[in-house]
Amino acid sequence: MTPTVYFVIPCYNEEEVLPETVRRLTDKLHAMQEQSLASSDSRILLVDDGSKDKTWDIISRLHGDDSAVEGIKLAHNRGHQNALLCGLMTAMESCDCAISLDADLQDDIEVLDEFVQKYLDGCDVVYGVRNKRDTDTVFKRTTAVGFYKVMKLLGVDVVFNHADYRLMSKRALEGLSEYGEVNLFLRGIVPLIGYRSDYVTYDRHERFAGESKYPLKKMISFALDGITSFSVKPLKLISNLGILISVLSVFGLLYALISYFAGWAVSGWTAIVCSIWLLGGLQMLCLGVVGGYIGKIYSEVKARPRYRIEEHLKHK
Ligand code: UDP
Ligand code: MG
Repeated sequence: MTPTVYFVIPCYNEEEVLPETVRRLTDKLHAMQEQSLASSDSRILLVDDGSKDKTWDIISRLHGDDSAVEGIKLAHNRGHQNALLCGLMTAMESCDCAISLDADLQDDIEVLDEFVQKYLDGCDVVYGVRNKRDTDTVFKRTTAVGFYKVMKLLGVDVVFNHADYRLMSKRALEGLSEYGEVNLFLRGIVPLIGYRSDYVTYDRHERFAGESKYPLKKMISFALDGITSFSVKPLKLISNLGILISVLSVFGLLYALISYFAGWAVSGWTAIVCSIWLLGGLQMLCLGVVGGYIGKIYSEVKARPRYRIEEHLKHK
C-alpha cells in the first residue's frame, strides 16, 4: 500500500528560504506520488517556531495555494528540537511515516525516495547520514567529530554524522511520544526507541539563502545538553576523582606526620596554599557538574509543557 508521508519542517525566521523550499518539496512530493511512494494524503507540515519575520504569513499563503501544505504556529520560540517534536507529534495522528527536514534544504532531498523505500522494506527508523562535511568550516568539522567521539566514550548511542534528517514510522513516533523529557535531544532518544533501523547517506549542501539559526552559543549548549541528558558518566568520574584524591591525601598525611615527628618539618606555606587552591578548584568543578544535573532534575520535575500550538491549518 502507498504510505501517507509527512514532511515535517521546523522554521525559525526562514522567510528567505520558505517559498523556494516548499516549491522544491512539492515537486519532489508529486514525483514520489507518481512513483507510488507517497499517497495523495501526504503533506508538507511547516512548524513556525515563533518567528519574528514573515514566516507565518508565508506559511498561511502557501497553505492557501496548495492543498498539500499545512502549517502550525507555535506561540513562542521553543527551539529547533521542540518545534520538530511538535510537528512529529502532530504528523503522528495522520501519517504512516514522517520525515524531518530543515527549512534550508541543506540535506539533499533527492534521497527522500530511498527513505520511503527502506520504510516499505520494513524499517521503522531511517537515519540520514552525511557522507562528507566539506561544506562545513574546519572548526565545525573538528568540533562535530570531537562531539561524536565524546558521546561514544560516555556510552551514548548516537549515529555518527546524523543530525535530524530522518524517517520515523507511525509506531516509532508513538514510541517517541512516551519520552516526556524537557531537555530534548532527539537524535539521542530515537535510537532508544528500538525497532528495525537503517540509514541513507547523502551530500549536504550550503544554505541557499538566509543564515544559520544555530549560532555557536546555541550549538555548544545543544552539545552539552546531549551529553548531560544521556550520560551519568561525568557523575561517576567525580566519585572516582574523589576516591583518588582521598587516597592520595592519606599518603600526604602520613608524609606530614612522619616529617613532623622526624623533626624535618619546614614552614610549609607553599604546600598549604597550593593544596587549598587545588582542592578548592576541584571542589568547585565537581559542584558545577553536580549542579548541572540538579538543574536538569529541576526542569524535568516541573514537567512544563514543551510547546503550545496557537494555530493549526489543516486540509479536510
Ligand atoms: N530552527 C528552529 N528554531 C530555532 C532555530 C532553528 O525551528 O530556534 C530551525 C531552522 O529554521 C531550520 C533548522 O532548525 O529549519 C536548522 O537550523 P539551521 O539550518 O539554521 O541550522 P544549521 O544547518 O546551520 O546547523
Ligand atoms: Mg541549516
